[in-house]
Amino acid sequence: MTDTRVAIIGAGPAGMLLSHLLDRAGIDNVVLEQQSRSYVLGRIRAGVLESGTVETLREAGLGNRMDAEGHVHDTINIAWRGEDVLSVNTFELLGKTMMAYGQTRIQEDLYTAADERGARVVFQAQDVQLHDIASDHPSVTFDTGAGSERLSCEFIAGCDGFHGVSRTHIPDHVRTDYDKVYPFGWLGILSETPPLPILLYANHERGFALCSMRNPMLSRYYVQAPLTDRIEDWSDDRFWDELLTRLPESQSSRIVTGPSIEKSLAPLRSHVSEPMRWGNLFLAGDAAHIVPPTGAKGLNLAVADVRYLSQALIAHYAGDGTGLEDYSATALRRVWGAVRFSWWMTTLLHRFPDQTAFDQRAQEQELSYVASSAHAQAALAEQYVGLPYS
Ligand SMILES: Cc1cc2nc3c(=O)[nH]c(=O)nc-3n(C[C@H](O)[C@H](O)[C@H](O)COP(=O)(O)OP(=O)(O)OC[C@H]3O[C@@H](n4cnc5c(N)ncnc54)[C@H](O)[C@@H]3O)c2cc1C
Repeated sequence: MTDTRVAIIGAGPAGMLLSHLLDRAGIDNVVLEQQSRSYVLGRIRAGVLESGTVETLREAGLGNRMDAEGHVHDTINIAWRGEDVLSVNTFELLGKTMMAYGQTRIQEDLYTAADERGARVVFQAQDVQLHDIASDHPSVTFDTGAGSERLSCEFIAGCDGFHGVSRTHIPDHVRTDYDKVYPFGWLGILSETPPLPILLYANHERGFALCSMRNPMLSRYYVQAPLTDRIEDWSDDRFWDELLTRLPESQSSRIVTGPSIEKSLAPLRSHVSEPMRWGNLFLAGDAAHIVPPTGAKGLNLAVADVRYLSQALIAHYAGDGTGLEDYSATALRRVWGAVRFSWWMTTLLHRFPDQTAFDQRAQEQELSYVASSAHAQAALAEQYVGLPYS
């Protein structure tokens, strides 16, 4: 006897989208989340959606608010040497656009949809442990404060993010972790001000900066900062001064400043854990990989994994198990493409503390090459807007 077919660990975007897609196919599932619902909804994270992510959400019936409130982007802008701005138009090059729509909104949409269908989501599930995952009768134990409970299932989906437990249940002799830690972080603020109307990346001698948007009255700005800095070191005034200094005058003069409503310092890291399947455990999203946010890929990769995994589970219950057999290899092909692109964008646009004069000239040359080559711009656009699904 099983309590459910698929036990999903984590109610972030990956876990909730998987639950949504499985429910639509009539596959019973239960989601276990260690935090409260309000805590998950309060996390400020990603905001730029690839065209494939937008299509996946629309196909899943989750596109209405996104289409009404999201902001369609078709241009990536890169400033460097304090004056030049390179604009790469993804629509002209590929016929595809991106969407600025905050992860917080997607999370709200997923929880609203879960309420409407009566999904089983257990919040504040503590001490989640996975059992017998290499067998045909896996189970998950957890504690909601009323004692330990056991959920038996056929498959476990580990969607519990980088700090989750699922990945650690894959034995060391099976698992390989690939890691790269960058020697700086991103100091980000949210401000209820009209955003700069363009998505703008800046490479400046004082460090990287990014101007992005969540909606017409919500701006998201970042500056590269040392990881040794503390949030208290960064008053709003200091943040705005630093941001404006790093932008070309043509753009800094258009920035509307105001009080921040959120401020955070995020470390930058690339990490991939292989394989993404062991026994009847399947990893998806940040549980298996994280990327620096420079290429705006983290959330998009989580959606791609879930797309592959949901299709494989649906095919399995229809009698075809090949998708589950191939899941790890299929997902990892896309993951490594995004990991390489995010590393390249990070290397191109940041100042590294140990950067030599040679490194500096090579970086400037790379920017000049991208600015002068239609092929290089097409490659940037193709990867930024998102490669087609396998
Ligand atoms: C500051 C910041 C900025 C970012 N900016 C961008 C961006 O601009 N573009 C982009 O694409 N990506 C960005 N990302 C990455 C993006 O937010 C993630 O890739 C995305 O959240 C991954 O979704 P997920 O569901 O896999 O993981 P998560 O969102 O981490 O969700 C995992 C869930 O599992 C729960 N959980 C963890 N451990 C357990 C446990 N033991 N038991 C039960 N539940 C557990 C967690 O509470 C969480 O709710 C950013 C991330 C951060 C932190």
